[in-house]
Amino acid sequence: MKLTRRQLLQATAFMAGFLLTTDPLNVKARPKHYNRIRFNPNESRSLAVVGAGVSGLATAYLAAKAGFRVIVLEADDRYGGRSLTLRPDDQTYRNWWFKTYNPHHLFERMYVSSKQERRESPAPARETAKFQTKKRKSRDEPVELYLNLGPGRIASIDTTLLSLCDELNVPLEPYIFKANNNLLYSDHFRDGKPVRWQEVHYSLIGQVAELLNEAVKDGLLLKGYDRERVLSLLRHYGNLNNDGVFDQTSGIAGFIRNRGGWKTPFSVQPPLALKDVINGDFVKPGKDDPMSFASYLYLSNSIDWQPTLMQPVGGMDRIWQNLLLESVPSQALLKPSSQPHRHGTRLGDLVHLESPVQSITNQNSSVLIDIKGWQNTLQVDACIVTVAPPLLGEGSNVTMAGATTHEMPIPADMRIRTNLPREVKQALASVEMAPAIKVGLQAHRRFWEEDDDIYGGISWTTHLSRQIWYPSTNFMESTGVLTAAYNAGSEATRFGALSRRDRIEEAAKGGESLHATFRKNVDLDGAISVAWQHMPWQVGGFANDTYLTQPEVYDNITNWPQGRIVLAGDAASQMPGWQEGAVAAAQLAVLALVGNTDSTDPAIYS
Ligand SMILES: Cc1cc2nc3c(=O)[nH]c(=O)nc-3n(C[C@H](O)[C@H](O)[C@H](O)COP(=O)(O)OP(=O)(O)OC[C@H]3O[C@@H](n4cnc5c(N)ncnc54)[C@H](O)[C@@H]3O)c2cc1C
Repeated sequence: MKLTRRQLLQATAFMAGFLLTTDPLNVKARPKHYNRIRFNPNESRSLAVVGAGVSGLATAYLAAKAGFRVIVLEADDRYGGRSLTLRPDDQTYRNWWFKTYNPHHLFERMYVSSKQERRESPAPARETAKFQTKKRKSRDEPVELYLNLGPGRIASIDTTLLSLCDELNVPLEPYIFKANNNLLYSDHFRDGKPVRWQEVHYSLIGQVAELLNEAVKDGLLLKGYDRERVLSLLRHYGNLNNDGVFDQTSGIAGFIRNRGGWKTPFSVQPPLALKDVINGDFVKPGKDDPMSFASYLYLSNSIDWQPTLMQPVGGMDRIWQNLLLESVPSQALLKPSSQPHRHGTRLGDLVHLESPVQSITNQNSSVLIDIKGWQNTLQVDACIVTVAPPLLGEGSNVTMAGATTHEMPIPADMRIRTNLPREVKQALASVEMAPAIKVGLQAHRRFWEEDDDIYGGISWTTHLSRQIWYPSTNFMESTGVLTAAYNAGSEATRFGALSRRDRIEEAAKGGESLHATFRKNVDLDGAISVAWQHMPWQVGGFANDTYLTQPEVYDNITNWPQGRIVLAGDAASQMPGWQEGAVAAAQLAVLALVGNTDSTDPAIYS
């Protein structure tokens, strides 16, 4: 068999992992500390960090604590980059939020209630979260309302990020990826009526187990195995009775009328026919886009989406907000802030918003940085850049990934000129980016809980909107914010090309496919949509697994330092599209400067 390059790389990575450790349980043990770099009183180098997303702020945190003098340059008028969480545009709620999370009102712009795509986006108008705040049923506090437009979950294998959350005291709670009661919808299934995940799953495995049971009994399979053990396994796996027949009366696929009452008869949901499941769009042959309908039946089995997933209590932005509030040595302040405050030097004091970097030039003994609106060129000893790689490349277009690729122009003012070597600039320019979209809206009541017994998780539809995320918290409160659409790749290209009204209409149609009363139960007028490929200072949702899909390019974009410049950001890692990659890349970049080593050193997880 001839191995493809991708298979070869995966095999090599597997073998490398195997050789590094023989204890699979400890492969990803969470490091005790995210910051493993000691403060060095003799460190006097100055460092510019480009970008105040999770990676840039984690970089600044590590470098400041190591003794560097740091400045963070952020083009946008807000912090967080893709970790964008919108909160109600309501002054009373805002006051409550600051009192709860940031009583000194440091860095006011950490509270974000609106977003705006670039001028050339099909949805360029500012969208503001006008969520209706309501009191909790049991406490004199509002129901916490927020919408994560970027990252929403943390995997339990995201050990670097989890260590950071631990270090910053960011409280975490479970994020429910799959509840068995979640719904699946296909135009081609059951006359367009949604079906529960549990019906599909247990019908499928019950009937497959029954077939296997027959084949084992007839001696067609697993000859030489202990037959009784195999049959026992199949009985438990597929819910078979003692005769090896799928028990259709147990309620494994759900109930039409629930148990309860002394004598009232209950009624079980009959399992679906195997033929219907296999022909019904839930299982498809061939190569599937990771976000396709075909993959979602078992996406929760994937290592990244397996239970337990987590989320910061109160919104994903709590991670970078806690970074901003972190105390750092006062020597870290490279450029004194115009408004000193009484609370010691905080990481947020190092950050300059609305400071777009236009050029970065390596010199023999320094780096020169030109910033739009700044009179003087900034001169520093080193620079760590966390922007999307194509912004640093020499091309004027970015390749957008999906079932088919296409080119998207990069606005000229978003491109950063550098004197990096040609092959590095070419590699940076050719990193493929995956478009990604989301729509979020507030529900007038928690109809998914009240009407459909769904508590958290995701329902899926063949409509372009693809997913509805139900809140994982605040069960049975009076309201909640739904993520009513999320897709990536070619579907996000189509979705992102729609006007705001049409995006919301698509989300409404997708919602109706799963919940007949969706429209009347949600505030469609207040819905928020985002297409990350059209956001300012972004050219997509995330890089398209460059290390797998473009290995030669990946080799070049992880070959740092180049002179005094280092790339961080999630794209410079083997986990693009995950904050884990963003904060791990930050660690590698600062370690590379502190230890004068290559950032390609794979020691981060050892
Ligand atoms: C829809 C979506 C869903 C996601 N879901 C998850 C999830 O569930 N879990 C998870 O862990 N991750 C998820 N991610 C990925 C996660 O958002 C990223 O991995 C992480 O936020 C990347 O952080 P970063 O700092 O590397 O990049 P960014 O957040 O993109 O930060 C880069 C910063 O650089 C700034 N910048 C750009 N150009 C310039 C310039 N010229 N000068 C100065 N500054 C500049 C930008 O404004 C930005 O603030 C998701 C992403 C998206 C889009």
